[in-house]
Amino acid sequence: MTGNRTFTMIKPDAVENGHIGAILDKINAAGFKIVAMKYTQLSKRDAEAFYAIHSERPFFGELVEFMTRGPIVSAILEKDNAVEDFRALIGATNPAEAAEGTIRKLYATSIGENAVHGSDSDENAAIEGAFHFAGREIF
Ligand code: GDP
Repeated sequence: MTGNRTFTMIKPDAVENGHIGAILDKINAAGFKIVAMKYTQLSKRDAEAFYAIHSERPFFGELVEFMTRGPIVSAILEKDNAVEDFRALIGATNPAEAAEGTIRKLYATSIGENAVHGSDSDENAAIEGAFHFAGREIF
């Protein structure tokens, strides 16, 4: 992946609450092109590996439990300045602090169950995209 791509997940809370369509609409309206997408569910091992950087944090067990409890939508998105622009579109980690109109403000319920993931750097976007998708699944 190049610097104009980011990785996202629509998390189990947003899937359970029926927000897949609305969130994809916001993503499209903001000018992101979907270059890979799947409806899937993380295993415990997947979630522990994906969030390994947070393994020492007190909420790690809760995070893994949450991220594995139901299906997610994972996707790779393309746009100029993708990582930064997508973080702006989703808003702060805690929806109570997220700006009006952001995806987390609209659809997240708590700091843990915050509706969407967005990569925080080009390097992590590439690592996370490769974790979820084989090369032949990326267009
Ligand atoms: P992000 O980059 O905005 O997703 O935030 P972080 O990288 O700091 O955290 C990763 C994910 O861990 C967040 O999106 C939340 O789902 C979860 N998380 C972060 N902080 C907390 C917390 O205090 N409690 C719980 N339960 N989950 C948290």
